[in-house]
Amino acid sequence: MKILAGNWKMNTSFEEGYNLIETLKAELSPERLGDVVVVIAPPSIQLTQAVDLLVDYPELAVAAQNGHAGDYGAFTGEVSMAQLADAGADAVIIGHSERRQFFGESDSVVNKKVLSALEQELRPIVCVGEVLEVRKAGKHLSAVKEQLRLALEGVSGDLAENLVIAYEPVWAIGTGETATAAQAQEMHAHLRGLLRELYGDLADHLPIVYGGSCKPSNAAELFAQADVNGGLIGGASLVAADFIALADLLHKS
Ligand code: PEP
Repeated sequence: MKILAGNWKMNTSFEEGYNLIETLKAELSPERLGDVVVVIAPPSIQLTQAVDLLVDYPELAVAAQNGHAGDYGAFTGEVSMAQLADAGADAVIIGHSERRQFFGESDSVVNKKVLSALEQELRPIVCVGEVLEVRKAGKHLSAVKEQLRLALEGVSGDLAENLVIAYEPVWAIGTGETATAAQAQEMHAHLRGLLRELYGDLADHLPIVYGGSCKPSNAAELFAQADVNGGLIGGASLVAADFIALADLLHKS
């Protein structure tokens, strides 16, 4: 399976979200997408708008950008995985570097969220990636592998088939700087090695997507890599023409 996920972050009004979704619906037919699954992650307040607009479009899935690991309770301002599932979300982004960096999400919190999402039958899009200093020190492969190992602690083989992994080098997110295709492939192959240790042959079927300033001008080379099974797209997912072009490139890859 190939996945193109658009992370809208804290952008879009209701009207902008509506227009973006209507354009994607009009353009991205099942024939055009082929084996590509498109996921959009609007701000949580617009989640049900997206779910309602896409009710007859199973090829366009809806993800939340975050969720709390508890089910219900006294956690002012939070939305739980159970509530996301109840609202009709298909998936949830977990452990995005902005959550880790600005909201203090530790590996252990990320792990709790992954387990909770799987329990609620939400597909977790689990984000991992190194900061620049770690790459410069040559420790990126081991650091990111450890991040993923901690995120997946306690995830059994039965549940693992719903996982999507996103490799997002922090230095490439929203910076205009992209990992080279070779850097992405090296990391994706390394992470698939961990998935194979944990889940055997299932590893070959789990999508590992790349994120970090991915756009139509650089995506073809990234998507052509053997272990790059799609993209998690920030900025370019807000421009319908760019996101559609990325879906076409992924389909062709
Ligand atoms: C992201 O936030 O997941 C992301 C990849 O952002 P951008 O494409 O804007 O770098």
